[in-house]
Amino acid sequence: MTGFVAPIDDILFALRHVADAARVEDWDDALASDILGHFGQFAEGVLAPLNSVGDTQGARLVDGRVIMPDGFGDAYAQLAEGGWQGLRAPENFGGMKVSALVAAGVSEVFSGANHSLQMVCGLVPGAIETLLHFGTQAQQDEWIPRLASGEVLSTMCLTEAGAGSDLSAIRCKAVRDGADWRLEGEKIFISGGDQDMSKGILHLVLARSGTAEDGLKGLSLFLCRGDDGVQVTRIEEKLGLHASPTCQLAFQGTHAELVGAEGDGLRAMFTVMNHARLDVALQGVAHAARAAQIARGYAQERVQGRRKDGAPAKLSDHVDVQRMLAEQDALAVGARAMCHVAFVELECGTRPDLVAFLTPLCKVFGSEAGIKAADLGIQILGGYGYLNEYQMGQIWRDARITSIYEGANGIHERSIATRGLKGPGADQFAELIRELGGGSDKLMGALADWEAWRDRLRTSDAAEYEAHDFAQATARLFFRACLAKCAAVADRHPEPARIKALAERVLSS
Ligand SMILES: Cc1cc2nc3c(=O)[nH]c(=O)nc-3n(C[C@H](O)[C@H](O)[C@H](O)COP(=O)(O)OP(=O)(O)OC[C@H]3O[C@@H](n4cnc5c(N)ncnc54)[C@H](O)[C@@H]3O)c2cc1C
Repeated sequence: MTGFVAPIDDILFALRHVADAARVEDWDDALASDILGHFGQFAEGVLAPLNSVGDTQGARLVDGRVIMPDGFGDAYAQLAEGGWQGLRAPENFGGMKVSALVAAGVSEVFSGANHSLQMVCGLVPGAIETLLHFGTQAQQDEWIPRLASGEVLSTMCLTEAGAGSDLSAIRCKAVRDGADWRLEGEKIFISGGDQDMSKGILHLVLARSGTAEDGLKGLSLFLCRGDDGVQVTRIEEKLGLHASPTCQLAFQGTHAELVGAEGDGLRAMFTVMNHARLDVALQGVAHAARAAQIARGYAQERVQGRRKDGAPAKLSDHVDVQRMLAEQDALAVGARAMCHVAFVELECGTRPDLVAFLTPLCKVFGSEAGIKAADLGIQILGGYGYLNEYQMGQIWRDARITSIYEGANGIHERSIATRGLKGPGADQFAELIRELGGGSDKLMGALADWEAWRDRLRTSDAAEYEAHDFAQATARLFFRACLAKCAAVADRHPEPARIKALAERVLSS
């Protein structure tokens, strides 16, 4: 099977030439290329070989502690030693403070190599950011250096048995205890709720400091130490991500510190929402790229059937296989471009309404791109795709959660078609489509149709009923515009013919 190859050229192409990363103040082109190159090597040599080990062994709960699969502890030690956990942390806290765009590229590579391990390590930048915005100086001083060095990993504890998509139903109770607080209750589905790789765990917990009637306003954010009365009561058996321990945690009078203001928990937790959602979109991109890589390698070797000239055919000689390979590739390249365009807007900070409109589009399209490309990969490999040997099944199983967590896609679709159309973001989206794909008459025709639909929904009482179709069409328009831009700058890519061909295929459909 084709070993994991980090798609560094594709990532740098999207960042530099499609999304124009140079617009962002802290973008350093040479440094970006250097960091991504180094991380790519690490991912290929250390993280990716553990991906199927993790899938087969899974994380286990033994005597109340989670044991990670073989090799994960060593890989994590190398990750921490390399400073990768502190990539985004400020230098005065021991971090490297590299651009968020570079960190996004690193995160994609990590997910493509080993999504399970990325899940357990990937919450740290968000925890650091939350502490920087809402933590006291003492909390920052105590935790950020330890998070940045890898001594501590972090979790995000929101979900409860009765509170999944609807966080207003959270019941985990926070009660004052002198200057601090005690937590009482249970959280479920907590990624990395325990593991045996880092010395400590910092839990960021959303709990009810007010009454049930206060709804979301009664929620506050707390931090707890993993070794201070947080019990792991079970880990879930799952479809995929077997090496990412999804834990049920019990808080029984657990000591906690308030982070930020009382009643401001949701705002604190969601500070990093745009980044987190774009990161999930990039998990989808990572799966699409990896599925395309494996399928391409296999299709170029497997001999089945005959070509028109009678010679033995490779799978890649068959027109329908070429269609599927091109679709996978286009999904990865186009969805990545969407994410980076959104990331650059986010980092520039000049069009926040546009960012709010683009983020759910990327989350929906990116996550579905990963699942779809893995599904196509299974088809391309035929019966071998259905076996474990080529990892296509694992990619599909691991990718499948991305359309559910960080807000189920249906919820994002509704917000695109309702709240998303209220502000200026939807008008700025139309401007963006012109900026990206202005050269294509076909795309401009599609944009005109979309604008008419947008204007009709703006005054409709029933927009929710069209939300899925509208959001899908909106995301598709963004995808096509990004591919138009890819085609326009394809000569800057090491494989211009590949980029032009896949863009042409999508734009002509
Ligand atoms: C592998 C994994 C890792 C996870 N990691 C974490 C973690 O680290 N921390 C954490 O706190 N949680 C975590 N979760 C939980 C995850 O965020 C929730 O599963 C998710 O929020 C959905 O909640 P639910 O499962 O209760 O589904 P429900 O809320 O019951 O929703 C089920 C489905 O109903 C639909 N739906 C629900 N509400 C609406 C609505 N208002 N409008 C339209 N459609 C709706 C959606 O299609 C949704 O998929 C994880 C889950 C898994 C499986």
